[in-house]
Amino acid sequence: ATILYQDQFIDRTQAKVDIEDRGYQFGDGIYEAMMVYSGKIFLLEPHLKRLERSARELSLTLPYSIEHLADNIKKLIELNQLEDGVVYFQITRGAAPRQHFFPEHTPPVITGSVSSKVRDLSKRPKGIKAVLAEDIRWLRCDIKTLNLLGNVLAKQKAHSVSAGEAILHRGETVTEGSSSNVFIAKAGELVTHPADHLILNGITRLFVLDLAKQLDIPVSEREFTLEELLHADEVFITSTSNEVKPVLQIDDQLINAGEPGALSKKLIAAFDAEVERIRTQ
Ligand code: PLP
Repeated sequence: ATILYQDQFIDRTQAKVDIEDRGYQFGDGIYEAMMVYSGKIFLLEPHLKRLERSARELSLTLPYSIEHLADNIKKLIELNQLEDGVVYFQITRGAAPRQHFFPEHTPPVITGSVSSKVRDLSKRPKGIKAVLAEDIRWLRCDIKTLNLLGNVLAKQKAHSVSAGEAILHRGETVTEGSSSNVFIAKAGELVTHPADHLILNGITRLFVLDLAKQLDIPVSEREFTLEELLHADEVFITSTSNEVKPVLQIDDQLINAGEPGALSKKLIAAFDAEVERIRTQ
C-alpha cells in the first residue's frame, strides 16, 4: 500500500517513525478519519475545518496549507485506487530530544493511509450492545488528539464483553461514546450533549443534526442523565465509520425492547440516501 509521508507518497514498508517523535512519546498530535465512498471523501470540508481547529488549539503550526493537505489526501486515495473505505490522516509535533515543552524549529510529521471497507448494507448489523463506563478523560475532549488512552480503556471494557461501544458518563451526565457521539430519542425529540469541551463535536453528529432539521425532527443539544439514557425510547451512536447505529442494549437494559426505533430508522434511511447521492456526483 502507498502511504503519505510528509509531502511524499511511499510504500508503507519504507515509512519510518523516529523513536523521539512526539506523537509516539506524548500523543502530541492530531488526526482525522474520513469515509470514502466511490473514491470521494465524505464531508471533507468539515473534517478539514476540525483539523485546522485541533491544530490551532494545540498551537501546532501546519506545515502546508489546508488546500495542499486536502490535495495530498485525494492523491493518496487515487494512488491506492480506493473505492470504499477509510482514510486516516495525522500530524504530530515532530521528532525532538524528549522534553515536555514544545521544541523550536521542529517540523511536524504528517502521515496518511487508507484501508478498504465495502459498505455492504445487507451485512449491516441492526444495532449494537453498549456498556457504561465512567468518563475519566481530560477536559479538552473537543480536540481530536492522538492521546486516546481514556477512550482505549473504555472501548476495551466494551470489547471484553462483546459489546460494540462504551457510553461514557461524568457522574450522572452522559457525554459521548468512546469513539462516537450519543443521541437519545424521547417522545419524538432527539437529545445529544452540547458541543462543549467535554465531547468531540463529531462530523457525523453535525451531519445528523442537519438531517434531523431537514426531516423536521426536533433536537435539543443539552446535557442528559444516565436515567434518561436508560429510559429513552431510542438510543443511537454516530461516528464516521459507524454512521448512525442503534444501541439496542446498555449493560443489562434493553432499549425499545431490543429493536431499532422509528427515528433511528428514518435517519439511517436519510443517511443512506446522502451516501448514494455523493457516489454519483
Ligand atoms: N467522539 C469521539 C471520542 C470520537 O473518537 C469520535 C470519532 O472517532 C467521535 C466522537 C465521532 O466523530 P466523527 O463523527 O467526526 O467521526
